[in-house]
Amino acid sequence: MFTHRLVFPASVLRGRGAINHLGAVCGRLGQRALLVGGARGIASVEEKVADQLDQQMVSYLGHDTLGGTCCEEEIKQLADRLKRQGVEVVIATGGGRALDTAKAAGVLCNIPVVTLPSIAGTCSAITPLAFRYHQNGQFRDMFPLAYGPAAVVIDADLLATSPLHWLSAGLGDTLAKWYEYRAISDMNTLSGLSGVARINSELCFTLIKHYAADACQAIRQGQANLALEQVLDAIFLYAGLTSIMSNGAHTGAAHALYDGFTACDKTRHVAHGLLVGFGNLCLLALENRSDEELLAALSLARASAIPVHLNEINSDLNHADINLIIERSLRAPDMANMPTEITQQQMQEAIQRVQRLSYIKT
Ligand SMILES: [Zn+2]
Repeated sequence: MFTHRLVFPASVLRGRGAINHLGAVCGRLGQRALLVGGARGIASVEEKVADQLDQQMVSYLGHDTLGGTCCEEEIKQLADRLKRQGVEVVIATGGGRALDTAKAAGVLCNIPVVTLPSIAGTCSAITPLAFRYHQNGQFRDMFPLAYGPAAVVIDADLLATSPLHWLSAGLGDTLAKWYEYRAISDMNTLSGLSGVARINSELCFTLIKHYAADACQAIRQGQANLALEQVLDAIFLYAGLTSIMSNGAHTGAAHALYDGFTACDKTRHVAHGLLVGFGNLCLLALENRSDEELLAALSLARASAIPVHLNEINSDLNHADINLIIERSLRAPDMANMPTEITQQQMQEAIQRVQRLSYIKT
């Protein structure tokens, strides 16, 4: 008998100025707070965080800068530091890797974690999952956590000042929720859980289709607007709910291609969601969707500043690199979720078709 376990964050604050509630949220969880994350994330929030904690008379213990790879060693080391310093509440900022490391360390030493994403690259702020890597940067696994964040603070004003490519990455990863769900799910059987996952992932697609271009404009101007708030809800809330409701089993060829990209030194450093965003287009080609559908998806990818050609990921890729990426993608567990077996030649043709169509301006 299969038990489906749903792990939600305890509370979510979203909208412009949400960070102004951070102190009160932390005050309910503990009296000694540490800020952890990537260097850029910490720099962008530290002053506000310290001020918020001060207002609620929560001791601010300073910050701890993470190394940038969410691997078992980093998680254990962070958990040790948290225990040693007597931390009672962790505020985690940065992107997916930093948040995943902090969430996993918090679970390991039983200290509540408040996520405060400074970029919108993935739905990590919400989910009870850690995407773990090996120390050399290669993808390892999607590790389920016993519980989710104690609170999530998604501040559109803060995220409006983040670099555009991170929003694009979030858009690419969130579009995958729908494209991959549609590709791998049996759309004919009705169940509540799969229905919620389906409705949420389709809502992600609809919101992004409608608001992506204006949301990117908001980031370029560094000023939040309604469109940005709407796509942030898609990236964090609705994509996060899709992950929670579908218990992680919602990925297909787009994420498999991402796994392939992490095997290549020239593409490994590129943001997860940008690679998944390109993978989405290849997935549609693998499904033999019409030129019309592919052109519409290409135009949405362009409006979202997602790469539509391998040259836009790295202009230096040779045949051997591309073969390695494809070969690794075929062996990725995500690829096994596809309804039919995918061959090297099919993947090659899919990439070529996407690139051919990318030259057609719509
Ligand atoms: Zn993803």
